[in-house]
Amino acid sequence: MRVLCISAHPDDMEINCAGTLLKCKARGDDVFVCHVNNGDMGHFEIMPDALGVMRTNEARRSCNLAGFTHLTCNIGDLDAYYQNKEQKDLLVDIIRQVNPDFIITMYPDDYMCDHEATSKLTFDAAFMATVPHYETNYPATNDVVPIFYMDAAQGVNFQPTEYVDITDVFDQKIEMLLCHESQAKWLWEHDRNDYTQSTRVLASFRGMQCGVKYAEGFRQCMVGLKLRPKRYLPE
Ligand SMILES: [Zn+2]
Repeated sequence: MRVLCISAHPDDMEINCAGTLLKCKARGDDVFVCHVNNGDMGHFEIMPDALGVMRTNEARRSCNLAGFTHLTCNIGDLDAYYQNKEQKDLLVDIIRQVNPDFIITMYPDDYMCDHEATSKLTFDAAFMATVPHYETNYPATNDVVPIFYMDAAQGVNFQPTEYVDITDVFDQKIEMLLCHESQAKWLWEHDRNDYTQSTRVLASFRGMQCGVKYAEGFRQCMVGLKLRPKRYLPE
């Protein structure tokens, strides 16, 4: 299968669904990861222009480690807007280029604007990508595909409906997360968040809920045309 993960910032994929994507890769899927925002505001000292480049490189390094194809919309932080046609079209073209069997994206009720905007932009773009007369740079795809929402920040207000056991790839997930070197200091100083520790706690908590050591949780987007009689996420 072809899996497309559309995250907001360069490190959201690693925190919430890298284990699942590693398991997709292991079963033979082609994995594509696109971050909508370039992460250019995530630092106290490094200025946005330099930081956007640095964080895109960190994301690329992480994807290279895992054998994922890296893509970006390169929109500045705090600048993703749900009703922005230009941004929607960027995502329509990402979806049309990748032609995924399913999509993993942000949860629409999360802690900050870029996460929520990314979720809603992706929801719309996934339908628009299939409309032949909606013209962008790439031809329309055939099917409206299933969407799965990754966990919300710190798991707040998010009750998974599906779990993926990531115990055997957990160390790789952390290795990928550590590629985002610029974020360790920022997340601690801005959010009091030790990102490897909080990622371990969340995976352990989701694991406890489904009876394994480490897991990632998801909610499927339950709307018409996006449902299928089979499981897409890895066993
Ligand atoms: Zn984020």
